[in-house]
Amino acid sequence: MFFRSIRLRLALWYFAILAVILILFSGGIYFTLRRALNSSLDDSLRTRATLIQGLLDNGPEGQPTLDLTTNPRDPNQGQYFERLLDPTGAVLFDSSAAFGKVPIDMTAVRQALQGGEPIQTVGNGEVQARILSRRIEQNGRVVAVLQVGQSMSELNGTLNNLLLVLAIGAPLALVFASFGGWWLSTRALAPIDRVTKMAQEITGQDLSRRLNLDLPNDEVGRLARTFDEMIARLDAMFKRQRQFTADASHELRTPLTAIKGQIDVALQRPREAGDYRQVLAGVNEQVDRMTRLVGGLLMLARSDAGALPVERQPVALRELVDSVAEQVEPLAQAKGLTITVSPGGPSTVIGDEDLLLQLMLNLADNAVKYTDRGTVTLGWQARPDAAELFVRDTGPGIPEAHRERIFERFHRIDDGRTREQAGAGLGLAICRWIAEAHGGRIRVESSPAGSAFHVTLPNRSRADATRVRV
Ligand code: ADP
Repeated sequence: MFFRSIRLRLALWYFAILAVILILFSGGIYFTLRRALNSSLDDSLRTRATLIQGLLDNGPEGQPTLDLTTNPRDPNQGQYFERLLDPTGAVLFDSSAAFGKVPIDMTAVRQALQGGEPIQTVGNGEVQARILSRRIEQNGRVVAVLQVGQSMSELNGTLNNLLLVLAIGAPLALVFASFGGWWLSTRALAPIDRVTKMAQEITGQDLSRRLNLDLPNDEVGRLARTFDEMIARLDAMFKRQRQFTADASHELRTPLTAIKGQIDVALQRPREAGDYRQVLAGVNEQVDRMTRLVGGLLMLARSDAGALPVERQPVALRELVDSVAEQVEPLAQAKGLTITVSPGGPSTVIGDEDLLLQLMLNLADNAVKYTDRGTVTLGWQARPDAAELFVRDTGPGIPEAHRERIFERFHRIDDGRTREQAGAGLGLAICRWIAEAHGGRIRVESSPAGSAFHVTLPNRSRADATRVRV
């Protein structure tokens, strides 16, 4: 549970990274300073050795002698010492007594005799010293070894102080910074907890709720807003779906009620065969209506589910339009309408022939259905980038307020003129789906003198257009 908190993981990462940085940083400071102090101490040893070298005298047997009187009030007392040895290692002069007993390291003496200038650290803890050994020559002959020493207590004291500061300061900084990190991550992630809590409260039944968090436009703010938008989309979708189901049930109930009514009346008393036939014909008509309705519903449901494949093959528009004109001809003739075809040059589109046929048939059927006199014109126009199919009529037109809405499912203009012929209001919804599934669109122009439906189909149909919702 603990490790499922981003806040804690962030704070731990922060702690670990900062700890590594502090360790590296402290180590860097400590070792750099130690090197610098050591090398400056060595420099001062060399300078001092040269200084002392100049103070050497010659003894009675020609051997070098050194006479340094130390002042007990000298504040540097006990910080430095000098020692003069002959080439065998015998002590000629030694002021290291005040310093504490510093043993003679013969290895260093030998190195100095061979011409080196070794600087070594001797002793430990309190009485640690650094000693430089240098040979002294006279007339090309090695006559002695001069050793100059300096206490390391000051240097060690400085380094120890630094170590103390780092050892206390770094963990303290780490603790404070970690609290800061924890506080920051808590602050930054608190809105996410709020989003989670509210998201849990939003249920399928009540999609009207929104987070509506007043957050700045940062990552979390955008997450909350995106969440709200998603819920809004789901809400709209659920509402549409519920409306669709309600409308569909209503539409199915109407013919069923009609059938039931006709049968009930027929069964009230014995009747002639002709009466029964009449009832059956009425029932048959209602069943046809229901079949059409269920067909349309099925098609829309499958298109919603993305389960309606759209084939892509060349479709010749001339054949398509001719075939539609032929199919609506009998109906048009019965109403005294003229059907004309207005060809727009040879044209082929890539699409699903059956679906395009259904689209044009729906439009032509509507045109014939809602037009009382005049002409219904079917045609197409080829353009370089798209082909346009159209169906024009001389009917009553579509009132402005309905022009967009007629493409919605179950939307009908119920103004009395059209009531008897009107279907379920699915035809144009299906037309729009087919057009969009081909990457195209459908629009209507209308005036009291008639309506014209235009379907634009791009030459190159989009492959992803099959999942377009109606
Ligand atoms: P329906 O099955 O009712 O015809 P549609 O979706 O095909 O459903 O059409 C929706 C409504 O648009 C129709 O009810 C009708 O009122 C109106 N409409 C469609 N085409 C025409 C047209 N050519 N002229 C006038 N009104 C039309």
